[in-house]
Amino acid sequence: MKLASFNDFRIGVASNGQIFDVTGHVPTGLDAIPQQRMSWLIEHWSEEARTEIEQTIAQSSGRPIDGVQLLAPVPSPAHVFAAPANYQKHIGELQERAVTKKGRSAREQGFFLKAPGSIIGAGQAISLPKGSERRFDHESELAVIIGKHGRNIPRKDALDYVFGYSCLMDLTMRIEPDTGEEERSMRKSFASFTPIGPWIVTPDEVGNAGELANRLYVNGELRQGANTRDLIVGIEELIELISSVLPLQPGDIIATGTPEGVGPITAGDRVKIDIERVGEMTLPVVEADAVAPRPY
Ligand code: MN
Repeated sequence: MKLASFNDFRIGVASNGQIFDVTGHVPTGLDAIPQQRMSWLIEHWSEEARTEIEQTIAQSSGRPIDGVQLLAPVPSPAHVFAAPANYQKHIGELQERAVTKKGRSAREQGFFLKAPGSIIGAGQAISLPKGSERRFDHESELAVIIGKHGRNIPRKDALDYVFGYSCLMDLTMRIEPDTGEEERSMRKSFASFTPIGPWIVTPDEVGNAGELANRLYVNGELRQGANTRDLIVGIEELIELISSVLPLQPGDIIATGTPEGVGPITAGDRVKIDIERVGEMTLPVVEADAVAPRPY
């Protein structure tokens, strides 16, 4: 099943170019905080819930998905965890702009955080700081969406805690050596710097998430092409690692890391991410309307 958030945080199921509104399956009490609807649905997911939603779809007519605005499928997660240096060929390619010490991967480094407020969906635009001369890069990543509360989850049980998968771009303002060595969390947390979508795909439709082609294109040109089989720290170990530090919550997002080929994007570009059996989305890159009081 492909679950999406659209328009004013309504819940939809995507199927064959259509979207079916299943917002009626979450309590009306959430109308006051609609950005929490998907997190609630994930936390209360069950085979019964899925069957009821399938019955709703069978009895209703969808509408073209192109006619709605897709938002981040989980618009307001508690956490966005991200793995640094998790593909061997990416390590080293940033040279003096890299944060990770030579030879260190996510296994030694652990994880970092992106601000949940940096999340957008497939129907929105990537916005770069106005007038900036800094370098802003794309990173093409498989996102794991957590389904259950969990602490100290052993690797062998980790996939039981996965609700589904999504495409994620970990957009980044690069370090300028000696002039701009801002913290990684800040450089990756500008508003719109975490596009995720176009939906969450449940594991039954994905199969082995440790073997998925992951591609990113800028203006139609392939920039990144890799496979999740080359992850240094796989999905199960990432869940073990993060949950050893703090509890995972339903709706939490884990960005599994970027392969090689990261490079700059500028206003006017169109960036497409395509992950096998998960989905694809294309976002425009624009420049922010106004220069920030502290410009970058
Ligand atoms: Mn990344």
